Amino acid sequence: MPDQGPSASGFQFELTGGALCFDFANTVDSRSAPKQRVDNLTGYAAFASWARQSGVVSAREAGELARAATKQSDAAGRVFREAVELRETIYHVFSAIAGGSIPSEQDLLLLGSYAQEAFSHMHLIAAGSRFEWGLDQRSRDSLMTLLWPIAKSAVDLLASEDLAKVRECAADNCGWLFMDRSRNQSRRWCDMKICGNREKVRRHRRIASGTQAHP
Ligand SMILES: [Zn+2]
Repeated sequence: MPDQGPSASGFQFELTGGALCFDFANTVDSRSAPKQRVDNLTGYAAFASWARQSGVVSAREAGELARAATKQSDAAGRVFREAVELRETIYHVFSAIAGGSIPSEQDLLLLGSYAQEAFSHMHLIAAGSRFEWGLDQRSRDSLMTLLWPIAKSAVDLLASEDLAKVRECAADNCGWLFMDRSRNQSRRWCDMKICGNREKVRRHRRIASGTQAHP
């Protein structure tokens, strides 16, 4: 999607997926085009920045985690590799679902194991008139803490009626996932302003040059 290059601190992530796990999967631009592919998740600091922008942690918590990561670079590297593995697993599972296929057993097992770990660090807390899963206070300063809400978001969605609304952007090189909450369930683009417009321009060019409307 956007053509900006990644940078750990100032980069603004696009948070248009409609689910936390999709905003995380969408930290890769042009996923399906190897030559244009840009991974905006450049390291643990960028991961912490994404988590702050997504509301997973506060600015203070993100800053503390990023500082801890610089002091424990080996551990941060391991957590970052797991984050990328979780992200790619989320993409594979939901891309399959968006395409009408069943996700692979291996991907579901991996996603399930991340979720099991996530729930082992959560407990039930009161949220108004109901209860919800929240992170244990003592788990909040672990470098891993950023992964758990993402894994939970993915399994919550898998178990939800909203699963039927999962889509992958129709642009051939985009690969962004989103929830189609449009009334007639007809949204095709991650962002009409970017991928939708690009496709419109292409269509106009094809018509203007007299070529077939099909790629
Ligand atoms: Zn797109």
